[in-house]
Amino acid sequence: MIEQFDSLLAKYADFIVRVGVNVQPGQTLIIAAPIAAAPLARLCAASAFDAGARDVRVDWSDEALTRIRMEKGAEEALCDVKPYALRSYLDYAESEGGVCVLNIHADDPDALAGLDAGKVSRVSSARRRALKPWRSYTMNDRVQWCIAAMPSPAWAKKLFPDLGEADAVEKLWGLIFDTCRVTGGDPVREWQAHLARLTDLQNKMNALDLASVHFESANGTDLTVGLADGAVWESAASVSEKGVTFLPNIPTEEVFTAPHKDKVEGVVYGTKPYIHGGQTIRDFHVTFRHGRIVEYGAAENEALLGEVLDTDEGARHIGEVALVPASSPINRSGVIFCNTLFDENAACHIAFGASYPGTTRGGTALTEEQLLARGMNQSLIHEDVMIGAADTRITGHTRDGRDVAIFDGGEWVL
Ligand code: ZN
Ligand code: ZN
Repeated sequence: MIEQFDSLLAKYADFIVRVGVNVQPGQTLIIAAPIAAAPLARLCAASAFDAGARDVRVDWSDEALTRIRMEKGAEEALCDVKPYALRSYLDYAESEGGVCVLNIHADDPDALAGLDAGKVSRVSSARRRALKPWRSYTMNDRVQWCIAAMPSPAWAKKLFPDLGEADAVEKLWGLIFDTCRVTGGDPVREWQAHLARLTDLQNKMNALDLASVHFESANGTDLTVGLADGAVWESAASVSEKGVTFLPNIPTEEVFTAPHKDKVEGVVYGTKPYIHGGQTIRDFHVTFRHGRIVEYGAAENEALLGEVLDTDEGARHIGEVALVPASSPINRSGVIFCNTLFDENAACHIAFGASYPGTTRGGTALTEEQLLARGMNQSLIHEDVMIGAADTRITGHTRDGRDVAIFDGGEWVL
């Protein structure tokens, strides 16, 4: 048994609500959670009311049911997303007190394994298309949003197949508490120190005024990522339209910015499995020319990778480049979580699809056309894939023509 488990769980929930989402008095909190995450969702709801939330709504999901619908439902029906789905968010977003959202992940990485990948991908695209006006609230940081995780038996058993279910869940809890800095019993204080470190690196990156970053590794990666005009490096904390600071991801180790969608050249190899829609893409690579992916391959689920890249034109370009040292607690744990929330914080990554408008100067106030003119990518998807290795070397090229070492041997050297 994890010592003082109940107390750590309560601290984790409180940290998620007070620092992660940073629920403000009068706001409605919408929690999206699988039924396996009910214990954490309830604690978060209680904590949100204590923080002054006007109301808390929980949207429950069930992976087993999702699988049944994907398998047996007609694609036409599954893609027919009714307007109320969008209104169920906008009604709160447009209300006086406003809204904030918490997504609790407890996904079984194989929930949809073996199903028609094209159908799964098209259904999820249809939903994204229908919810696009709401998505702009989170992509633009108009409202506070946060993603955090808790173990489900299926997820834990996937990671630790040799353990019994209860032991596997406990082991995954231990890892989540460790990597989310809860184990020490004072997550708020530990996060203040962590955020200060990340902010320092972010400031140093911004001071360099880089035109591009060049990734190299013995695995064959040789990738130059040109940056969007006015690109700004960001780290853990974001600020909403109303000036509320929040943490979009728990945990977070990254310092990231926007590539220029047409200025990425070379080849890059994936270094961790890429989980998409309940299926795993392994040992992939992609080749870029003028920012566009012109060639790709994968040892497993190559066709699914193709489906993802064919979502729309923007899916063939990248919208994020993020730096994470190999010494991150998630990577040091030695565990592949098979969940992007954790795995993206174990390694440098890029994202197929949309960029975050906030990663170009003043970007959240710009129109789509103005963002495109700066080289900011647009797409229905934003899919993080891991490219950092233990030997990753990153060299920055400044706009005034200097070369600066940023990573060596997988670590920050700035
Ligand atoms: Zn990222
Ligand atoms: Zn991302």
